[in-house]
Amino acid sequence: MAEETDCLFCKIAEGQVPSTKVYEDDTVYAFKDINPMSEVHVLVIPKKHYPNAAAVAAADPQLLAHIVETAQKIADDQCDGAYHLLFNTGAAAGQTVFHCHAHVLGGRPDPAKLAGALA
Ligand code: AMP
Ligand code: ZN
Repeated sequence: MAEETDCLFCKIAEGQVPSTKVYEDDTVYAFKDINPMSEVHVLVIPKKHYPNAAAVAAADPQLLAHIVETAQKIADDQCDGAYHLLFNTGAAAGQTVFHCHAHVLGGRPDPAKLAGALA
């Protein structure tokens, strides 16, 4: 379903690059962030490639809603439903992977990493 050959998160969604799966269905995939900023740090991605959240919203608003619902479900399971939902958009704002991903951040934060991510 994913289609950008040179995209890390397309490869993760397709299982070509290993990840620690948290949730999967037909349209989204969720996995643990490799460098967690918080006790709970899960990335939720659409299986189809979009460069950022606004592109998903423009092309398929229901898919963006499903990403948010999935984030809530993961937070309900892992951190009592309390979490930050972060979409970095643009390199200057810290986006490093240009495949839409929602950071689900819950539990005890790592303040240094969190501050670095938003700097
Ligand atoms: P961003 O800076 O918003 O583009 O977020 C990219 C996130 O992807 C960072 O938090 C990275 O730690 C995470 N990341 C990069 N490579 C991997 C990987 N192979 N598996 C899991 N998470 C990754
Ligand atoms: Zn991609």
